[in-house]
Amino acid sequence: MNYKVIIGVFMDKITEIDDNYFMNEAIYEAKKSLNEGGIPIGAVLVKNGEIVGRGHNKLIQNNSAILHGELDAIENANKDARLTGEDYKKSTLYTTLSPCPMCSGAVILYNIPKVVIGENKTLLGAEKLLKTNGVEVISLNNPECKELLERYIKENPETWKKELEKVDNNTTTK
Ligand SMILES: [Zn+2]
Repeated sequence: MNYKVIIGVFMDKITEIDDNYFMNEAIYEAKKSLNEGGIPIGAVLVKNGEIVGRGHNKLIQNNSAILHGELDAIENANKDARLTGEDYKKSTLYTTLSPCPMCSGAVILYNIPKVVIGENKTLLGAEKLLKTNGVEVISLNNPECKELLERYIKENPETWKKELEKVDNNTTTK
Protein backbone atom coordinates (compact mmCIF):
# COMPACT_ATOMS: atom_id res chain seq x y z
CA MET A 1 0.00 0.00 0.00
CA ASN A 2 1.42 3.38 -0.87
CA TYR A 3 0.97 6.31 1.47
CA LYS A 4 -1.91 7.79 -0.53
CA VAL A 5 -3.90 4.57 -0.11
CA ILE A 6 -3.05 4.49 3.62
CA ILE A 7 -4.18 8.11 4.05
CA GLY A 8 -7.32 7.29 2.04
CA VAL A 9 -8.18 4.36 4.33
CA PHE A 10 -7.46 6.53 7.37
CA MET A 11 -9.74 9.32 6.11
CA ASP A 12 -12.51 6.79 5.40
CA LYS A 13 -12.22 5.56 9.00
CA ILE A 14 -12.49 9.13 10.31
CA THR A 15 -15.56 9.72 8.15
CA GLU A 16 -17.11 6.51 9.49
CA ILE A 17 -16.46 7.56 13.10
CA ASP A 18 -17.98 11.00 12.40
CA ASP A 19 -21.02 9.50 10.70
CA ASN A 20 -21.69 7.22 13.67
CA TYR A 21 -21.17 10.07 16.13
CA PHE A 22 -23.69 12.33 14.37
CA MET A 23 -26.14 9.47 13.83
CA ASN A 24 -26.09 8.91 17.59
CA GLU A 25 -27.07 12.56 18.01
CA ALA A 26 -29.97 12.02 15.58
CA ILE A 27 -30.97 8.94 17.63
CA TYR A 28 -30.88 11.10 20.77
CA GLU A 29 -33.39 13.40 19.02
CA ALA A 30 -35.57 10.42 18.03
CA LYS A 31 -35.70 9.36 21.70
CA LYS A 32 -36.68 12.90 22.69
CA SER A 33 -39.68 12.61 20.37
CA LEU A 34 -40.59 9.26 21.93
CA ASN A 35 -40.46 10.83 25.42
CA GLU A 36 -42.86 13.54 24.21
CA GLY A 37 -45.28 10.86 22.98
CA GLY A 38 -44.20 11.30 19.36
CA ILE A 39 -42.81 9.16 16.56
CA PRO A 40 -39.11 8.35 17.19
CA ILE A 41 -37.42 9.88 14.15
CA GLY A 42 -34.62 12.40 14.64
CA ALA A 43 -32.17 14.45 12.60
CA VAL A 44 -29.22 16.79 12.89
CA LEU A 45 -27.76 19.22 10.38
CA VAL A 46 -23.96 19.36 10.50
CA LYS A 47 -21.76 22.06 9.02
CA ASN A 48 -17.96 21.77 9.06
CA GLY A 49 -18.09 19.02 11.68
CA GLU A 50 -20.41 20.97 13.99
CA ILE A 51 -24.12 20.47 14.69
CA VAL A 52 -25.95 23.63 13.61
CA GLY A 53 -29.50 22.30 13.88
CA ARG A 54 -31.23 19.49 15.78
CA GLY A 55 -34.77 18.26 15.35
CA HIS A 56 -37.25 15.45 15.69
CA ASN A 57 -40.59 14.39 14.30
CA LYS A 58 -43.37 16.50 15.85
CA LEU A 59 -46.42 15.34 13.87
CA ILE A 60 -48.17 13.95 16.92
CA GLN A 61 -47.03 16.31 19.68
CA ASN A 62 -47.59 19.51 17.60
CA ASN A 63 -50.54 18.25 15.54
CA SER A 64 -48.29 19.08 12.60
CA ALA A 65 -48.47 18.01 8.97
CA ILE A 66 -44.93 19.04 8.06
CA LEU A 67 -42.64 18.80 11.08
CA HIS A 68 -40.65 15.73 10.18
CA GLY A 69 -37.31 15.37 11.97
CA GLU A 70 -35.34 16.59 8.95
CA LEU A 71 -37.42 19.74 8.43
CA ASP A 72 -37.38 20.46 12.17
CA ALA A 73 -33.54 20.22 12.18
CA ILE A 74 -33.27 22.50 9.12
CA GLU A 75 -35.74 24.95 10.69
CA ASN A 76 -33.91 24.97 14.03
CA ALA A 77 -30.58 25.57 12.29
CA ASN A 78 -31.92 29.04 11.53
CA LYS A 79 -32.93 29.90 15.10
CA ASP A 80 -29.56 31.32 16.26
CA ALA A 81 -28.25 32.73 13.00
CA ARG A 82 -29.78 32.39 9.57
CA LEU A 83 -27.87 30.02 7.32
CA THR A 84 -26.61 31.31 3.99
CA GLY A 85 -26.63 29.45 0.71
CA GLU A 86 -22.94 28.72 1.21
CA ASP A 87 -23.64 27.27 4.67
CA TYR A 88 -26.13 24.77 3.26
CA LYS A 89 -23.64 23.75 0.57
CA LYS A 90 -21.16 22.81 3.34
CA SER A 91 -23.73 20.85 5.35
CA THR A 92 -24.69 17.22 5.82
CA LEU A 93 -28.09 16.07 7.03
CA TYR A 94 -28.16 13.05 9.34
CA THR A 95 -31.53 11.38 9.76
CA THR A 96 -32.55 8.18 11.54
CA LEU A 97 -35.02 7.28 8.74
CA SER A 98 -34.85 7.49 4.95
CA PRO A 99 -36.22 10.97 4.08
CA CYS A 100 -39.63 11.41 2.44
CA PRO A 101 -40.16 13.49 -0.76
CA MET A 102 -41.00 16.62 1.29
CA CYS A 103 -37.76 16.52 3.30
CA SER A 104 -35.74 15.43 0.26
CA GLY A 105 -37.23 18.46 -1.53
CA ALA A 106 -35.83 20.77 1.16
CA VAL A 107 -32.41 19.10 0.83
CA ILE A 108 -32.49 19.62 -2.95
CA LEU A 109 -33.85 23.19 -2.71
CA TYR A 110 -31.10 24.30 -0.31
CA ASN A 111 -28.36 22.37 -2.14
CA ILE A 112 -27.39 20.26 0.86
CA PRO A 113 -24.88 17.92 -0.81
CA LYS A 114 -24.98 14.89 1.49
CA VAL A 115 -27.55 12.91 3.48
CA VAL A 116 -26.61 10.13 5.91
CA ILE A 117 -29.50 7.77 6.65
CA GLY A 118 -29.85 5.57 9.74
CA GLU A 119 -32.11 3.01 8.09
CA ASN A 120 -34.50 2.54 5.17
CA LYS A 121 -35.95 -0.89 5.91
CA THR A 122 -38.93 0.21 8.03
CA LEU A 123 -39.90 2.83 5.46
CA LEU A 124 -38.14 3.77 2.25
CA GLY A 125 -38.02 7.45 1.38
CA ALA A 126 -37.21 9.38 -1.77
CA GLU A 127 -33.57 8.30 -1.97
CA LYS A 128 -33.82 7.98 -5.74
CA LEU A 129 -34.96 11.60 -5.99
CA LEU A 130 -31.97 12.69 -3.90
CA LYS A 131 -29.50 10.72 -6.00
CA THR A 132 -31.02 11.94 -9.28
CA ASN A 133 -30.41 15.47 -8.04
CA GLY A 134 -26.76 14.80 -7.29
CA VAL A 135 -27.08 14.39 -3.51
CA GLU A 136 -24.67 11.89 -1.97
CA VAL A 137 -26.68 9.34 0.01
CA ILE A 138 -25.09 7.09 2.62
CA SER A 139 -27.04 4.35 4.39
CA LEU A 140 -25.65 3.17 7.70
CA ASN A 141 -28.09 0.31 8.36
CA ASN A 142 -28.06 1.30 12.00
CA PRO A 143 -29.92 -1.33 14.08
CA GLU A 144 -30.87 1.10 16.85
CA CYS A 145 -32.70 3.41 14.40
CA LYS A 146 -34.66 0.44 13.11
CA GLU A 147 -35.46 -1.02 16.54
CA LEU A 148 -36.67 2.32 17.89
CA LEU A 149 -39.17 2.87 15.08
CA GLU A 150 -40.23 -0.79 14.83
CA ARG A 151 -41.00 -0.90 18.53
CA TYR A 152 -43.03 2.32 18.23
CA ILE A 153 -45.05 0.91 15.31
CA LYS A 154 -45.71 -2.30 17.26
CA GLU A 155 -46.88 -0.35 20.30
CA ASN A 156 -48.81 2.33 18.36
CA PRO A 157 -50.15 0.58 15.25
CA GLU A 158 -53.22 2.83 14.88
CA THR A 159 -51.26 6.11 15.06
CA TRP A 160 -48.72 4.85 12.54
CA LYS A 161 -51.44 3.54 10.21
CA LYS A 162 -53.28 6.88 10.31
CA GLU A 163 -50.14 8.83 9.44
CA LEU A 164 -49.24 6.51 6.56
CA GLU A 165 -52.79 6.50 5.16
CA LYS A 166 -52.48 10.27 4.67
CA VAL A 167 -49.69 9.70 2.15
CA ASP A 168 -51.23 6.62 0.49
CA ASN A 169 -48.67 4.44 2.27
CA ASN A 170 -45.93 5.78 0.06
CA THR A 171 -42.95 7.94 1.02
CA THR A 172 -40.82 7.11 -2.02
CA THR A 173 -40.71 9.31 -5.10
CA LYS A 174 -44.11 9.53 -6.73
ZN1 LIG B 1 -40.00 13.91 5.70
